Amino acid sequence: MIVMKFGGSSVANAERIRHVAEIIQTYKDELPAVVLSAMGDTTDHLLEAADMAVNGTVDIEKVEKLHFDTAKELEIEVPAIKELLDELKTLLTGISMLKELSKRSRDYLVSFGERMSVRMMAAYLTKLGTPAKFYDAWDIGMVSDSNYMAAELLDEVWDNIPKYLNDYKNGKQKEIPIITGFIAKDKHGTITTLGRGGSDLSATMIGSAMGAKEIQTWKDVDGIMTTDPRLVKDAKPVPEVTYEEAQELAIFGAQVLHPRSMIPCRKTGTPVRVKNSYNIKSEGTLIVEKHTGTVPAVTAITKVKNVTLIDIQSSRMLGAAGFLAHIFNQFLKWNISIDVIATSEVSVSLTVNTKADLSGLLEDLGRVAEVKATGDKAIITVICDASHSSAILAKAFDALNKEGINVQMISQGASKVNVSFLVDMAEADKTVQVVHAALF
Ligand code: ASP
Ligand code: MG
Repeated sequence: MIVMKFGGSSVANAERIRHVAEIIQTYKDELPAVVLSAMGDTTDHLLEAADMAVNGTVDIEKVEKLHFDTAKELEIEVPAIKELLDELKTLLTGISMLKELSKRSRDYLVSFGERMSVRMMAAYLTKLGTPAKFYDAWDIGMVSDSNYMAAELLDEVWDNIPKYLNDYKNGKQKEIPIITGFIAKDKHGTITTLGRGGSDLSATMIGSAMGAKEIQTWKDVDGIMTTDPRLVKDAKPVPEVTYEEAQELAIFGAQVLHPRSMIPCRKTGTPVRVKNSYNIKSEGTLIVEKHTGTVPAVTAITKVKNVTLIDIQSSRMLGAAGFLAHIFNQFLKWNISIDVIATSEVSVSLTVNTKADLSGLLEDLGRVAEVKATGDKAIITVICDASHSSAILAKAFDALNKEGINVQMISQGASKVNVSFLVDMAEADKTVQVVHAALF
């Protein structure tokens, strides 16, 4: 068995669905289990519809039209989609009357996207003569906690999934299972979601629990690239990365995989392959536990924009125990997540997402230290073998120096697979280009 995951843009319209159906059929002999996201931007459109409903308007035109038009173009009848759309309208009407939307209702609401896309694909494949069967995630045992919008799968999922999918693996059941990504149900039977982009995690969970030969996540590019190819024309595909590197890549801005999606396969060592749906023959990027050959010095360069730098300085910190603990406690209190951090004896510099509301935090911190927050920064991360970090940084910084780009903070993650540094956002793209040219 293999697991094949296709994201929203891969199933965005009839043409793309035809293309994906072809790819699935090509892999028929490998006994694929398929995981799908919602079509195109459906998740975003559902969230927009929710906001409109809170303000009193029920409108799902975009979502309805996309699904009806697609079914028509594919020449399939999918009454199940019509039923779901009716249920969705009822839900939105309820929201529009209550004029409020809990996280729990929001999860219920966005779940319709994935539920419709699997019904569409299963109907289409079946029409093509490749029998397929759709599953809502909970029908194969995807149980999560009740942390709506960012639910965690429970451990029992490891035992549940094989119960439902073993007969596909041993060939007793012949259809191709088409399973919703992103969603689950909690112990009370309430629908939850695993966080935006969570279909990757659904796929790796299923693949790992099934001991699949390979988990394939299909994209529109040749796997993981050395950097964003829109920014750097010479960006090259990376043949192999480790789970750890893939996770760092995801955290630091490469839109390849959900950062949490590496968790299940790290437990089992199930290989993940990032494949290009426009170039099926290409090997893509293989994600594994350990590099099979020599560890590459530099793997990739990523950037995260919209970062705010917070500098905290206090002479009270000198030799004092517990000062950092106090600082971090304030971040906990205001629920603000720190991304990159560097400290010295009397100061701490750290970065947070610019979207976070910092007013309360800064006020609290201001009581014990001198605090300065500066927005419009970007984090540039070099995923590399950090045991060569001096040589790598020397090359990178020499190049940046020649371009007059000033680096404001450096941090080497404990995972030893990345070095991050901060620059002005206006210089972020240029920095990536310069560093890429210097290191590749
Ligand atoms: N459809 C969901 C989203 O857009 C999940 C996913 O695509 O993985 O976030
Ligand atoms: Mg999506």
